[in-house]
Amino acid sequence: MEELKNKLKSQGVKYCVGAYVDIHGVPKGKFVPIDHFEHFAEGSELYTGYALDGLGQRPNDDEIASLPDTNHIIQLPWQPEVAWMPADNTFKGEPYEVNTRVALKKVLAQAEAMGFTVNLGIECEVYVVKETENGGIEIPDQNDHLDKVCYDVKRFMDRFTWLDKVSTTINDLGWDLYSLDQEDATSQFEFDFKYADALTMCDRYIFFRMMAKQYAAEEGLLATFMPKPFADKTGSGAHFNLSLADSKTGENLFKDANDPRGLGLSELGYQFSAGILKHGPALCAAFAPTVNSYKRLVRKGLMSYYSWAPVFNSYGSNNRTNSLRVPMGGGRIESRNADASCNPYLAATLMLAAGLQGIQEKLNPGEAQEENLYEFTPEQLAERGISELPRSLDEAVHAFASDPFVEEVLGSTLRDEFIRYKSEEWRQYHQRVTDWEVDHYARRF
Ligand code: GLU
Ligand code: MG
Ligand code: MG
Repeated sequence: MEELKNKLKSQGVKYCVGAYVDIHGVPKGKFVPIDHFEHFAEGSELYTGYALDGLGQRPNDDEIASLPDTNHIIQLPWQPEVAWMPADNTFKGEPYEVNTRVALKKVLAQAEAMGFTVNLGIECEVYVVKETENGGIEIPDQNDHLDKVCYDVKRFMDRFTWLDKVSTTINDLGWDLYSLDQEDATSQFEFDFKYADALTMCDRYIFFRMMAKQYAAEEGLLATFMPKPFADKTGSGAHFNLSLADSKTGENLFKDANDPRGLGLSELGYQFSAGILKHGPALCAAFAPTVNSYKRLVRKGLMSYYSWAPVFNSYGSNNRTNSLRVPMGGGRIESRNADASCNPYLAATLMLAAGLQGIQEKLNPGEAQEENLYEFTPEQLAERGISELPRSLDEAVHAFASDPFVEEVLGSTLRDEFIRYKSEEWRQYHQRVTDWEVDHYARRF
């Protein structure tokens, strides 16, 4: 540790921060002067848990601690005096399972015991917007109204400075960016970097959000991961692409070139998918955890074209109208439920645990859906046994609360904390009287 400290000091580091996340996936941590690095690395930093959202602490409880992961240090490119690293919480010297990163590690250990390494890729969609004087947000440079702006080169170039800063950092960090584009709305972008083991990918997603915001602020703009910032434009997803590999050989166990169902997915992959579908409504609360998330999960909403966001608890091949799909070529599954506001550790924990249960119980996901489900009538949906995903945070939290699997995986404190916070979020939102209501009812009745 002393050697590492001296190395960091020689690189100009003055502070280190071990950032753990609260229940919302927002990073928290103290900034410790580098001279105290050895002590810090052993978990010296203590926190009043009650000051943090969703960590299950009361005002009279002992402090929780944070244990930084010194194998994943990032010297912030925009603030080289700071060495950032992900961290877990501990309580009374033990890993604290109410912390979602710790919860993920527990399910990863279960996967490891079954002989699996979990590979995850998270697609990063994000809007870069301008903040208005009245506290709102608007799309910068929106001076025309093309119906479809997806892949538009001019719009990409309009945000080039920001895109280039984010991309350069991704590559400097060795994450291997392989694609970035202008998405379905002006100033909405997607970054895709190579998959990694699930814990590392979740750490990267947390860092990505922080970095995207920082670089946007440098341009006087706001990078927002709000799932649906504009009612008439697409939302921002964070699709989870997952596969299991043999932990000894590294072989992809979801790949089967001779898949009799023709999707290139192995039997293990189908069983895993079936587990996810079995708990689909409950998982949706973790994938799409805000009031606003459910404005993204619509066929079209107020848009003139489809949202590409999922509405059904269904699976299929490359067909994007399913919530779970096997992208072309097979070998992985993509959950499209996740949105950009999710706590990736919590979502990955439940997705993985559900999939592993599917394997243990050898579940079958039934037939793949290959048609445009957005166009299906209620009768067609009923005929195929396709159910809708929760349509509001309220419905999702009910599904989460009534599936006993959630408590088995998360334990009762984390489960209850999530329900408590999310029910309150719903209540606060639902008790407001909106402009829409006044417009529609004040004069009519
Ligand atoms: N923006 C879409 C969503 O909300 C996804 C578009 C895509 O398939 O990349 O999930
Ligand atoms: Mg996209
Ligand atoms: Mg995708």
